[in-house]
Amino acid sequence: MITTDGVVIGKHDQGDNGWYLKVLSPDLGLIDVSARGQKKQGASNSAAVQLFACSTMCLNDRGGRYYLDSSRPKMLFYHIREDVQLLSLASYFAQLISFTVTENQTARDIYRLLANCLYMLSERSAGAEFIKFIFEMRLCTELGMIPGLLGCADCYKTESTMYFDIPDGIFLCREHFLERGLSGSGDTVEITAGMLEAMRYVCLSSQEKLFCFNTPHSTMSTLSRISERYVRYRLERDFPALDFYYSVSAKQ
Ligand SMILES: [Zn+2]
Repeated sequence: MITTDGVVIGKHDQGDNGWYLKVLSPDLGLIDVSARGQKKQGASNSAAVQLFACSTMCLNDRGGRYYLDSSRPKMLFYHIREDVQLLSLASYFAQLISFTVTENQTARDIYRLLANCLYMLSERSAGAEFIKFIFEMRLCTELGMIPGLLGCADCYKTESTMYFDIPDGIFLCREHFLERGLSGSGDTVEITAGMLEAMRYVCLSSQEKLFCFNTPHSTMSTLSRISERYVRYRLERDFPALDFYYSVSAKQ
């Protein structure tokens, strides 16, 4: 028997009675867990098998497959499942994790990032764009895909206006932006010193302090668009849940 914490990031039917769960564990990485008999009324693990619930789980490991034996819910993040916008954003986070985390890897920092972001979403402690920006940039950092935040890639200067070359993940001062013959549209975007500071903060601060900064609302939506493009370039793919998040957000 193995005891581990886990967040359910996906589930589908296992016949009439149970669920196949996709669980992110800090100790085991992303694992498949079979939760049989959990659709019955009053089933013992009915709270822990909810989408995005965070629980301590006791798992049987039989022939390389995990079976849920018992559980103790820690955080159920109830409000996420009540709000389609929050649910769609959390589903996007789940897709990013499904694509980047594998079984049998320790994923403590990514687990903690996800749990903290789900908490912030569920409690509506911050705006969705703010949480999205933090999740995207910090996930890239934890995956070893941090952009070159020191300053201009050519001279290390930081000026009041910088240019972020999203595909290469580098920043440039005006002089070197012009010298490289880049244009300020498309894949290279102009950013302010405050925006660079926010990116540095999210990538470099400790996880405890991750949410302790302020950025004006207008800046946050720009940052959120930049971070999602950065993720898309680093992971070289689109995530359908993100389109759904925007279609839902547009109606609200
Ligand atoms: Zn420079």
